[in-house]
Amino acid sequence: MDSKIYLSSPHMGGAEQNYVNEAFDTNWVAPLGPNVDGFEKSLESYLGNGNHVAALSSGTAAIHLALILLGVEKGDEVICQSMTFSASANPIVYLGATPIFVDSEPDTWNICPNYLEEAIKDRSSKGKKPKAIIAVHLYGMPYKVDAIKKISEKYEIPIVEDSAEALGSTYKGQKCGTFGDISILSFNGNKIITTSGGGALVSRYLKHKEKAIFLATQARDAAPHYQHSEIGYNYRLSNISAGIGRGQMEVLDSHVGLRRKMNEFYKVIFKNVTGVNVFSEPNSNYFSNHWLSCILVDSSECGFSSEDIRMAMGENNIECRPLWKPMHLQPIFERAPYYGGKTAESLFNIGLCLPSGSNLTDEEKVKINDVLIPFIDK
Ligand SMILES: *Cc1c(COP(=O)(O)O)cnc(C)c1O
Repeated sequence: MDSKIYLSSPHMGGAEQNYVNEAFDTNWVAPLGPNVDGFEKSLESYLGNGNHVAALSSGTAAIHLALILLGVEKGDEVICQSMTFSASANPIVYLGATPIFVDSEPDTWNICPNYLEEAIKDRSSKGKKPKAIIAVHLYGMPYKVDAIKKISEKYEIPIVEDSAEALGSTYKGQKCGTFGDISILSFNGNKIITTSGGGALVSRYLKHKEKAIFLATQARDAAPHYQHSEIGYNYRLSNISAGIGRGQMEVLDSHVGLRRKMNEFYKVIFKNVTGVNVFSEPNSNYFSNHWLSCILVDSSECGFSSEDIRMAMGENNIECRPLWKPMHLQPIFERAPYYGGKTAESLFNIGLCLPSGSNLTDEEKVKINDVLIPFIDK
């Protein structure tokens, strides 16, 4: 059998190993060193706008530290986009705070400004103003940045921008990862670039970077002995992983181009199929890295379901997956308050993620095409 075609697999550019070898040659095999500094600099110049970057062990760690920096404590409430990966919400619970989930809007599939405002008003009227808003750029598609920012400013609640899936995306020409009061990135194995595992915290304030690094390296006070006035974490990125990241930065833009080509590939395939919509930018303000290409399948119009496609692809060793299951529908978050209707739920019911890697070969695309054609010809 042919090798499996994945949704999104690591795609090395070539220079990664040089940086990793350099780390071995100089014995910088530690959670600090020249690659960590170099990777942070490279991300800082890529993101621009005077942003500061702290390289961390994961995107989840970055969200955890972001919430700590914003003062989230036990008993607080934090608003979070419901439709997302659980890692967006879990750090709220690590801190003993309560997640308040908010529905998506249909244009970008991300947090709905109207329900967000409703949630803020209602929680505040119950005596608890939310401490932060976690907004996510799902599948690389920027959320409604201006509308969300306006609400954040009106109610003076800071935004944690979860840009784990959106490095290389832009909104009105500005890079995702620069819109939050604090932003986070992920370099997990399935993301647009990878360090095998890793993440970053991004902020315009140098003091955020410094505090994040302090907390990520066990919160050691300035003393020759080990002294601690705060609880610390072991969240720094290793110099080996950061070496992979430096190499990946050299190919980031070309990989964004290739992911966007995969999106075009699916648009061509489904062009004349009523009932199938390939997820695309609502207008020219939005530029998605198309980390994953996704479709919505209305079976009443096209006669087949997203599950039919997923099964057929699976039989051919091609990975597809339903969209993120909204957090308010997850057993673990059953009791968490939710504001919204059925937008996220219906996206989950009819959506599907398709193989989207920047490393898919022409033969693999032919194979994907051949499985999809019988559906299209129906
Ligand atoms: C991957 C991801 C994360 C978590 O990042 P890790 O580096 O895997 O911890 C958080 N949020 C979203 C939306 C993600 O896709």
